[in-house]
Amino acid sequence: MDPVASGYDVPWALREEHLTWQQTVRDFCTRVVADGAAERSIEGRFDAEIVRAAGELGVFGLLAPEVHGGAAADLRTLCLAAEEMATVDSSLAVTVHVQAISVSLLAHLASDRSDLLQQVLPSACTGETFISFGLTEPSGGSDAGNIGTRARRSGDDWIINGAKQFITNSGTPFSRYVILFAATGAAGDVRPPVSAFLVPLDAPGVTIGPSYAKLGWRASDTHPLYFDEVRVPADALVGTEGRGYREALQFLTWARIPIAAMSVGLARGCLTDSLRFVSHRESFGRPLGGHQGVAFQTADIAAQVATARVMTYDAAWKYDQQLPIEREAAIAKLVASEAATKAAYNATQLQGGYGFIQETAATRHYQDARILTIGEGTSEVQRLLIARGLGLPV
Ligand SMILES: Cc1cc2nc3c(=O)[nH]c(=O)nc-3n(C[C@H](O)[C@H](O)[C@H](O)COP(=O)(O)OP(=O)(O)OC[C@H]3O[C@@H](n4cnc5c(N)ncnc54)[C@H](O)[C@@H]3O)c2cc1C
Repeated sequence: MDPVASGYDVPWALREEHLTWQQTVRDFCTRVVADGAAERSIEGRFDAEIVRAAGELGVFGLLAPEVHGGAAADLRTLCLAAEEMATVDSSLAVTVHVQAISVSLLAHLASDRSDLLQQVLPSACTGETFISFGLTEPSGGSDAGNIGTRARRSGDDWIINGAKQFITNSGTPFSRYVILFAATGAAGDVRPPVSAFLVPLDAPGVTIGPSYAKLGWRASDTHPLYFDEVRVPADALVGTEGRGYREALQFLTWARIPIAAMSVGLARGCLTDSLRFVSHRESFGRPLGGHQGVAFQTADIAAQVATARVMTYDAAWKYDQQLPIEREAAIAKLVASEAATKAAYNATQLQGGYGFIQETAATRHYQDARILTIGEGTSEVQRLLIARGLGLPV
């Protein structure tokens, strides 16, 4: 029995159908994803074929309503997919994560617009079309409500000007829309109200900037987006005018939890790779794993996996029971991403020079780990949220 894949169970959080799904995704990753993950990362190559295969697996519409082609699954189901994929390929995991979030957010914001949802969601649930999530701006992401992109009325239309930065899934062959957050208050407002728009990426005036050369998530797709007098019809506004950001934020409290699940998967990948290495490599006449220092370092990675996994599925389980999760989601994201960072450091250290070579899985995990404490709210932002929950005036 694989001590990594079968360990660290959270039986209180997962039902039989979750375990069956976990095995399905695990088999998919072994069959389709694992081979070539190193090459894709080294080359920085987004692979459309793997995305199509993931679409057939049904991952993109996991959280969307069935009536629009989704699976109406719970959050634990998405977390299991994110975890399994990140054991071998965090780039694919984030590609799935962003699409699943965007599909689910659009279904929420436009819940009273079944025509729009029927037009957009079925192909988004299969992954034939991508919807990206456009919040972060060049001036900063942590203070996310401070939006410089503006939308002004022109007759029945809206005219949008501004720029977004680091937008995942915005320049792939499947990319069609961005859910864009833009200020819709009067010019000069210090903290103007912010609305959400569904903007076609082929609208005149939209420019998709060049792909970033990234440290990690190298086989995922990330671009800046520029909006120059982009005219969209009134019904491109989704959610309530002036409240789109607030509505999205309130809805997306759960979005940090799949990132925590990706952290669990990455840490698990580190453990698998480390166990393999320290079991076969020898120094001073015995396997590396027979030296107490090495065994302890490997044990630390196992503890990091377990800690991250318990926190993640506790938060996901509570969300699925409709319990409050503001603090749980922030703690899960903070603890899991920092555990993954330490696991990746330990895994590369254990492999000596091989831990510095890009073909080594641990090296890729080390590169991919770096973003986990930054994306979906940095560790500092998670600490802010936790501290505010404790009543501290920060
Ligand atoms: C590969 C990648 C993909 C991404 N995908 C998307 C996407 O699809 N959509 C999207 O909208 N965004 C996306 N992002 C953006 C990401 O969410 C932001 O990078 C992140 O939220 C941090 O924002 P920032 O980079 O502007 O850093 P800043 O907000 O400028 O922060 C810089 C540093 O200051 C710290 N800091 C800021 N304020 C405080 C404070 N009050 N107290 C203490 N410390 C503070 C931060 O923690 C950080 O360490 C992506 C980013 C990357 C790199």
